Amino acid sequence: MRLANLIDGHLHAPASMSYLDVFEPATAAPFAHCPDSDATDVETAVQAARRATPGWAAMPVEQRAQRLFRLADLIEARLDAFAALESRDSGKPLQLARSVDIPRAVSNLRYFAAAIVTWSSESHATESGTPGTGAINVTLRQPLGVVGCISPWNLPLYLFTWKIAPALAAGNAVVAKPSEITPCTAALLGELSIEAGLPPGVLNIVHGRGPSVGQAIVEHPAVKAVSFTGSTATGARIAATAAPRFKKLSLELGGKNPAIVFADADLSDDNLDTIVRSGFANQGEICLCGSRLLVQRSIYERFRERYLERVGTLRVGDPEDARSDLGALVSKAHFDKVTACITQARTEGGRILCGGEAVRIDGRCADGWFVAPTVIEGLDNDAATNQQEIFGPVVTLIPFDDEAEALAIANGTGYGLAASLWTRDLARAHRLGTQLDFGIVWVNCWMLRDLRTPFGGVKHSGIGREGGVEALRFFTEPKNLCIRY
Ligand code: NAP
Repeated sequence: MRLANLIDGHLHAPASMSYLDVFEPATAAPFAHCPDSDATDVETAVQAARRATPGWAAMPVEQRAQRLFRLADLIEARLDAFAALESRDSGKPLQLARSVDIPRAVSNLRYFAAAIVTWSSESHATESGTPGTGAINVTLRQPLGVVGCISPWNLPLYLFTWKIAPALAAGNAVVAKPSEITPCTAALLGELSIEAGLPPGVLNIVHGRGPSVGQAIVEHPAVKAVSFTGSTATGARIAATAAPRFKKLSLELGGKNPAIVFADADLSDDNLDTIVRSGFANQGEICLCGSRLLVQRSIYERFRERYLERVGTLRVGDPEDARSDLGALVSKAHFDKVTACITQARTEGGRILCGGEAVRIDGRCADGWFVAPTVIEGLDNDAATNQQEIFGPVVTLIPFDDEAEALAIANGTGYGLAASLWTRDLARAHRLGTQLDFGIVWVNCWMLRDLRTPFGGVKHSGIGREGGVEALRFFTEPKNLCIRY
């Protein structure tokens, strides 16, 4: 399968005519070829986007929304094909792609199509003191023009649409770059966008590597804003490039999230399942995964026993097998990183309570990049294992005595994306919820998402918020129009 760039409403080979291998993580075999594009392709895409901007921005919102709804319908009608491609490309279980990733991509498009139609602007009446005179101020929310959207490999179509949907709905033309590690579903979406009636140049998808394509998007003077999701290191590079060019930036970066379990928590089987899922869903390759599991000392041993028993039932296997809870890690490089982190945890004195090694699956997946769900204890919060983002199926257990200690450990990280709290005491939940230094705090749940809510992190987890009107605000420029009467 040879993928193409989408530029100006047509599918194009890259200017370089060279391609990158795209691997199936479950088999370690290449199965697709992705354009290895460069700044020349980005330039062509930006010029197409510039030409498309006035017409798209002037189109009545209902008509823009209609096209996004149509795109959502086209994806939904091909749910099975999208899910199979996403699973093959990323290594995640097919069942997960089918039930979470692709339906969420459809919801993202529908949500922002509906949101733009119902969004209203603000106005402020300025009184002069004399009846019949004064001014009315209207806050216009105008599209920015051409914007860049750069997304990562862990939730490929889910996060790609989370960016392009609000950008397009708000009337911008987009130059987007999916991760070249998992480019397939974005390429398929690009083909369908033509059928959905997006005018040429409104959505451009340029495949390729971050330092060439991503960097060229960020540097381009006509790109007014960049919405980026990925690692903190890349986010820092993008910020350094964009800041002197005065571009709007939204950065959704890494995390080292705590899940905090108090002795009074309702640890029903369902809740325990959610706590386990919060560590290992999508092989732990979700920025929101709780990789530090803080447990109150009075229940620590009993909890550990039940937790390990449940983790022990997780099945690592062929992503196509409906019985697999975890599939393969996304790439050989990421597999090497995660296994090196486990080795480091051992060196630091961590006790591996389960997992701790690669898993070999017989048959077609014999060469795949599988790692067993791994639980580690005995490490201080300031150990490297508890400070660095591993982004794999690795959870550390950390005991605490009281609320103050839990808070200190939870906040004792450079990251600040998401925390989850497990307690029956809602006064405690409120108290800690306000003191936890994270952009998102879940109480007695995890990854319960409502697309209207602000989404994003603090500290090294990013700048800005996505979701709901926050995303529409990001992708528009407020202008005050003051009319005297
Ligand atoms: P990454 O290496 O930072 O890459 C993210 C995207 O940026 C990719 O498309 C990448 O292209 C591109 N890129 C790399 N260098 C670039 C540059 N100099 N300029 C512009 N773009 C560049 O991240 P990843 O490994 O794909 O994703 C995992 C990370 O994403 C984790 O840290 C995770 O926590 C984070 N994440 C955060 C959220 C959130 O909402 N906060 C959600 C999901 C994931 P290449 O693929 O070619 O490198």
